[in-house]
Parts: sequence; C-alpha cells; structure tokens
Amino acid sequence: MKSKCEKCQQSLSHESLAYICSYECTFCEICSTAMQHICPNCSGNLCERPKRTKQPLNVIKDQIKQKFFK
Ligand SMILES: [Zn+2]
Ligand SMILES: [Zn+2]
Repeated sequence: MKSKCEKCQQSLSHESLAYICSYECTFCEICSTAMQHICPNCSGNLCERPKRTKQPLNVIKDQIKQKFFK
C-alpha cells in the first residue's frame, strides 16, 4: 500500500481515508474529489481504499478460522 497521495504528496496512513484505482494509484480525498474520482494516470475509477483496522496477526487467525469452519 502506498502511503502518500500521488498528486499533493500528502501522507496517507493506513487508517486515513484514501482513494485508489485498480492499478493502485493512490490519492487523498481532496485530490480524488477534485478529479471527480477519475485516475489521471490510467483514467480508471478511484474507489475508497479499504481501511486496515485489524492487526495482521488477527487477520491470519480469522483466515484460518474461516477455512476451518467451511
Ligand atoms: Zn492529494
Ligand atoms: Zn490509476
């Protein structure tokens, strides 16, 4: 995951709101709104980046759990 807006270089933490295209071009909310959610690099849609709320260890645990109970 990229940690900076490609347009204004504002730093974007994993918890902050950011927008990405399918090529993972990353922009802050202000820039993506100004660009009408169209990526200037690839003309793709910019979507809200999923936030990382869990610790990686918990994610792995949940993945194992899901496999186990399927
Ligand atoms: Zn920006
Ligand atoms: Zn793009």
